[in-house]
Amino acid sequence: MKRIIGFITNVIPRQWLIRCSYLFSILIRPFYVGNRVECPVCGGHFRKFLPYGYGNATENRLCPKCLSLERHRLLWLYLKQRTDFFTAPLKVLHFAPEQPFLKRFRNLKNLDYTTADLDSPIADLHLDVTKINLPDHSYDVVICNHVLEHVDNVNQAFAEILRVLKVGGWAILMVPINPDVDTFEDPSITDPKERQRLFGQYDHVRQFGKDYAQILTNAGFHVVEDKFFYDYSEEQRNRMRLARRGEEVICRCEKVIE
Ligand SMILES: [Zn+2]
Repeated sequence: MKRIIGFITNVIPRQWLIRCSYLFSILIRPFYVGNRVECPVCGGHFRKFLPYGYGNATENRLCPKCLSLERHRLLWLYLKQRTDFFTAPLKVLHFAPEQPFLKRFRNLKNLDYTTADLDSPIADLHLDVTKINLPDHSYDVVICNHVLEHVDNVNQAFAEILRVLKVGGWAILMVPINPDVDTFEDPSITDPKERQRLFGQYDHVRQFGKDYAQILTNAGFHVVEDKFFYDYSEEQRNRMRLARRGEEVICRCEKVIE
């Protein structure tokens, strides 16, 4: 069973899993009944999470019910505990909206919530993050997770996100991080296998590293590094599987000046 599920979550693109997630979760759940792990996003508890990952699937990552990964569970708790995202009247622009969040955010009555994607049919707006066709100073919150590692001109994306944020607004810009290196990129590397080897995935154009907060600061954000992850006991962190190594800190990217 483990090999079958590993195969499914590894070979079938996550977008497809998401499309048939309701059916998938119903089929899979009997094999995951238990109470050793818990998902703070959907409230489900299971024997363990599903394996997940391109290339080499890693054990115990994907929620069988809402398909959250570690980063979604960490961000959900962050938004709940460290921000007024669930209560304040906020105008939110969400790029490449993650499946575990989409309906839940859309149902929040306090939000004026807009989704955006380059080409996804389910997004409200079709936008390029390096050329956002929206007015200056128009959003309280921008969320753009696991997008920037795919974007050639990342500094242009940072500038555009800053531009559409209101002064006093903030952005969450999560990326895959290798904590053992500084960020590096090489535009001449276009071979998918070389990108996989150097940048961690066949369609990534750079590997972000331990200097990510500094990169965000250099781009003009006031960065607040939140280490609330460490407020949880090791037992709690393992039970909810909250972050992969190097991705424990959430950077709140604030716009403080025009
Ligand atoms: Zn879940």
